[in-house]
Order: sequence, then structure tokens, then C-alpha cells
Amino acid sequence: IKTIGVLTSGGDAPGMNAAIRAVVRSGIYYGFKMLGVRKGYNGLITGDISEMTARNVSDIIHRGGTILQTARCKAFTTEEGMQKAMSISRAFGMDALVVIGGDGSYRGARDFSKFGMKVMGLPGTIDNDIASSDYTIGYDTAMNTVQDALDKIRDTAYSHERCSVLEVMGRRAGHIALNVGIAGGAEVILLPEKEFDFDKDIIRKIIQGRNNGKKNYIIILAEGISEKIGGALELAKKIEDLTGIETRGTVLGYIQRGGSPTIQDRVMASAMGVKAVELLRDGVFNRIISVKDAKIVDLDIDEALSMKKDIDQDLLRMSSILSI
Ligand code: ATP
Repeated sequence: IKTIGVLTSGGDAPGMNAAIRAVVRSGIYYGFKMLGVRKGYNGLITGDISEMTARNVSDIIHRGGTILQTARCKAFTTEEGMQKAMSISRAFGMDALVVIGGDGSYRGARDFSKFGMKVMGLPGTIDNDIASSDYTIGYDTAMNTVQDALDKIRDTAYSHERCSVLEVMGRRAGHIALNVGIAGGAEVILLPEKEFDFDKDIIRKIIQGRNNGKKNYIIILAEGISEKIGGALELAKKIEDLTGIETRGTVLGYIQRGGSPTIQDRVMASAMGVKAVELLRDGVFNRIISVKDAKIVDLDIDEALSMKKDIDQDLLRMSSILSI
């Protein structure tokens, strides 16, 4: 391996820049030529590729988003698209590719490896929904952003004796909702991983709370739930109609994807970026960098993609004890 490319793919996440910086700088440190691929797999197909120097990644460690930009690329999922991407990669002399993204991006990398590219995956997504890793780059920052919003909503919910319904990101996984729900003292936490009964788990809980002297209520829901029961605004209306308690819905949306990464995201992204390059230097490829039991490890890409991840059931159980 002489030349290594790096790209970010799927949804952007704070800390991706720290990961790009780590990959580029450690690559240069070990004597590789480094290439930046823009807009995810699109850049491989269009040839939006250029050499990266140590200075190209200066002053980005503290910035959210990704300087390489990101995209979802349909063409890359076809054999024709992959073949084209491989020809362009060869034209640029790229021997290996570091992909920073989620499970979808890993699938793309795995398929691309079958065309001869040596790949390495880094977990980057705010949802923490990558099965093979306990932790993903951007998750800590996103949780802190949601926490900050929830604290603000709590102030106004208390002042007006209202119920607040907060919808947070998490299409397939409720890790953000569960953790922020606990940290923010939510009365009800609704996750895609857990079945619930609207009357029993929401309405009865609010009424019981009122009978116990509660004056304000926080309900947090992961966006995956909104497909089943409607989003925060719809839910707020239903709750107000049934309980008579003034209820407001807030959908946090894309604010959760931006912002300066936390120290944890910066340090983990940096360490994982260096680890990816060191493995390539040692001739190891088609691996995924993961965090397992607070250690950075690497896994076979197929093995990583076959894994399943569940919500922390113990934390879920405890959250309902704490919200009486
Ligand atoms: P996030 O969870 O943040 O959305 P992700 O990496 O899971 O991140 P996806 O949109 O699922 O995001 O995937 C990103 C890109 O990876 C896709 O647009 C596509 O180019 C590529 N990709 C996904 N699945 C496959 C697949 N099965 N084969 C080839 N390429 C794929």
C-alpha cells in the first residue's frame, strides 16, 4: 500500500473532521500519499479526489460536519457504479480506502473490497446504531446537544406547568432518547426498540404523575416512533385532548447533527483514525474499527455487518423506576 484515500459517507456527524485529520496526519507520518475523496462514494465515481497534506487538515478538529462533505450515493450500489469507482481509484493510484460512516457505508465498503479495494471502516454516526461498536463518532456530541435543548424546554415546561414532547433523532435506534431521557429526567421515553401502549404507558403515567403532585412532564421520543404514532406535534395534541394538560411538541431536527464535537468524540475519532492507518501499514485490511468494552479493536467487515445491537435493557428498566 502506497496511497490511501479517505471519505465520509451517510449522515454527517460531529467528530468526522477529527477522524479525517487523524487518518491524513498518521498516513503522512507513516509515509503514505493521502487522498481526500469528496461527497462520499460519489467522489469515487466522479473523480472528486485530491491529495491531502498535513496542513489541509489544520484547524478542523473542533468543527462539526465534514470538510470532505458527505452524501448518499445510489450509483455506488450497482455493479456498474462500483466498477467505475474502481477504475477511477486506480487512475488516482489509490490502494486502500478509509470509509467513515454507518452500517450502510460499511456495506458499500465490503462490496467495494470484492472489486479489489483494500478497505477500512470507521464508525461515524450520531445515532450510535452501528451494531459492531459500543460507540460511534458524533454520538456524544449529539447527546449533549439534545441535553442542552431538553434542559431549556424543562425550564419553560416547569414555569407554565406544561407537558413537553421532544422528538429526537434515531430512526432505527433509541440510544440518544434513552440516555438523554434519563439525564434530563423524562417521565416517558419512547424508543423504536420497545413496544408501548399509548393509553397505559403515556396517558396513565401522566395522570398518575398529576395525582402524585407532578406539575410538568417531559416525554422524549426517538423519530423512529413517529412513523407508528405520529410525531411530537401530533402526540402533544392527543395528550392535551385526553388529559387536559397544556402540551407542546418540539422536533429538534438537524440541530442535533451540527456543532463542535465534545472531547470524547475528538479523542475517540483521533485514536480510531490512527488505528485504521496503523492496521493498513501492517498489511491488515477489510476491517472495521470498533469500540468494545472501552477498548479500540478491529473486526472483520463481514462479521461486523452480521452483528446485532440492542438497547441497554437495564438502563431502560431503571429509567421507568426513576420517573415515578
Ligand atoms: P447513517 O446511519 O448516518 O445514515 P450510513 O452509512 O448507514 O450512515 P447509508 O445511507 O445507509 O448511511 O449508506 C451510505 C451510502 O453507502 C449509500 O448511499 C450507498 O452509496 C452506500 N451503500 C449503502 N448500502 C450499500 C450496499 N448494500 N451496497 C453498496 N453500497 C451501499
